[in-house]
Amino acid sequence: MATVYLGLGSNIGDTEKNLREAVEALAKRGAIASVSSLYRTEPVGFVNQPWFLNQVICLETKLSPEDLLKATQQIENNLGRERTIHWGPRTIDIDILLYDNLVMATPNLTIPHSWLSERRFVLEPLAEIAPTLKHPILEKTLTELLQELKNDKAVVILKERHSD
Ligand code: ADP
Ligand code: MG
Repeated sequence: MATVYLGLGSNIGDTEKNLREAVEALAKRGAIASVSSLYRTEPVGFVNQPWFLNQVICLETKLSPEDLLKATQQIENNLGRERTIHWGPRTIDIDILLYDNLVMATPNLTIPHSWLSERRFVLEPLAEIAPTLKHPILEKTLTELLQELKNDKAVVILKERHSD
């Protein structure tokens, strides 16, 4: 069984519903161990688009990294994601952030996720649910990485965990 952290993001349509449906679909691929609060975040990269809703979840799963990627892509497709602009608007984006202490890089799968330590919209919810977990390459905790982050993009808690 692997402990996996997944980053979810949506900025088209009913973003809260998109995240909820993604979490429900992921729950069928393992067991959800924890979920972060929902964060309203300013777009990074292609900035002329709506703000995102982001969340990180922890999933216990028997899927291999490759099978997990297939599963997350299938869920993205089922929820109506159309791949248009790179880093552009999307119904749902599911990124594999961490997979146990695994370090790997193939043409279509890099773990830990490449931008993890540079993106506040990922690091903030990730550090919320796994503050003392260490990044397997950088060998710093997620809280330390968050403290070191120099990035002025806004990330605002929309809904606290356990609030509903
Ligand atoms: P992005 O998430 O960077 O905005 P996409 O979701 O369209 O863009 O992903 C582009 C590609 O990133 C995918 O086709 C996938 O093969 C690749 N990829 C590499 N590493 C990962 C990872 N850790 N999690 C998810 N996708 C990844
Ligand atoms: Mg992605």
